[in-house]
Amino acid sequence: MEIRKDVSLKPFNTFGIDVRCSHFVQIDSDEALEALLAESVFLSQPKIILGGGSNVLFRKDVHALVVKNEITGIAVVREDDNHYWVRAGAGENWHGFVLHCIRMGYAGIENLALIPGCVGASPMQNIGAYGVEIKDVFDSLEAVQIPDGSKRTFTRDECDFGYRESVFKRGEKDRWIITHVTLRLNKRPVFHIEYGAIEEELEKINSDRLSIKDVAQAVINIRSSKLPNPAVLGNAGSFFKNPVVAMDLCESLRAAYPEMPAYPVSGSEVKLAAGWLIEQTGWKGRRIGSCGVHDRQALVLVNYGGATGDEIYALSERVAGDVQERFGVTLEREVNLF
Ligand code: FAD
Ligand code: NAP
Repeated sequence: MEIRKDVSLKPFNTFGIDVRCSHFVQIDSDEALEALLAESVFLSQPKIILGGGSNVLFRKDVHALVVKNEITGIAVVREDDNHYWVRAGAGENWHGFVLHCIRMGYAGIENLALIPGCVGASPMQNIGAYGVEIKDVFDSLEAVQIPDGSKRTFTRDECDFGYRESVFKRGEKDRWIITHVTLRLNKRPVFHIEYGAIEEELEKINSDRLSIKDVAQAVINIRSSKLPNPAVLGNAGSFFKNPVVAMDLCESLRAAYPEMPAYPVSGSEVKLAAGWLIEQTGWKGRRIGSCGVHDRQALVLVNYGGATGDEIYALSERVAGDVQERFGVTLEREVNLF
């Protein structure tokens, strides 16, 4: 374990923002983490825990110790007639983990294929895509408390998952280093293919017997055709959450915009598609200097190269401001700001 000083975070965030941190360390085991907890730098500096850096926007240099979690390992820790309990290190690449589960026949996360980042961050915002969220298969996670180093296991209920939310973005924010996540995966798949273009894509794949591999492949195909690859064009996925609004507001908007997509989440609340709202304000495909709004998905802000975090933040303010003005809907950022 080497604690380096004055390190560029450009390779460690998918927006590709070139900021520097005062201290940087990579930890690849529980033992390395334990040793880190005793280091004076750890005790004296603010800390930022990083996985794949695919859901962060660094606005400026950070005077903090950035701890990149690279704890790996995947194991089945329990099994019954219907389920496997699979425990993975926080530093496992999420998509690699999904592919491993598919190869082994562990079902339940195939719809979450190709989401960038690491296993350890997956509970942070209850990652979700194509009608499945990690909470659907979540069993527990293990974490180490900052700064006293005490260990705790969080159950599903204790994570208090919501839509792109968990306790780690609210009351327990910045207090824990997640080291392992355990999912309860299915021996017999339960397919979720009614969402978006999955069924249409599956017809093209034309498999004799539907499998979790087919579903993952359909998701991979759709995502690859729509979303910018961060290795080519800097981005952090959806910059904003889809807003959940009161039914009354939705109905009044629907009167003015009958084609507006809206999905009920309860008897009194409705989820709107932030990408659609942004598109209506004319931002889709617009570029301001080195950053802009992606031309195939208006929810994604992109760095064409050399944009600063503050420039991307300012763009997000303008986009959200225009949505607020036109629709009276407040967009909340999904990306974590530093
Ligand atoms: P990071 O960006 O490194 O960190 C995110 C947050 O978690 C930060 O606040 C960080 O401090 C904290 N954190 C990270 N690791 C730990 C840890 N071990 N312990 C404690 N705190 C930690 N998200 C979805 O939900 N659904 C999608 O479909 C989706 N698609 C995406 C597509 C693209 C092209 C991109 C770029 C992003 C997408 N995302 C999506 C967002 C992102 O990939 C996920 O939120 C992912 O889980 C972030 O993982 P990460 O390891 O990169 O987290
Ligand atoms: P899409 O299929 O074009 O749909 C647009 C929005 O409408 C989505 O955000 C989705 O909400 C909602 N939606 C569509 N069908 C729905 C249904 N049957 N029930 C409830 N809500 C529905 O979306 P997309 O941009 O191509 O993304 C596809 C999936 O990948 C989505 O689930 C999206 O969340 C996920 N994704 C997430 C990120 C990220 O960074 N968070 C980035 C890219 C893609 P939901 O978002 O709630 O699903």
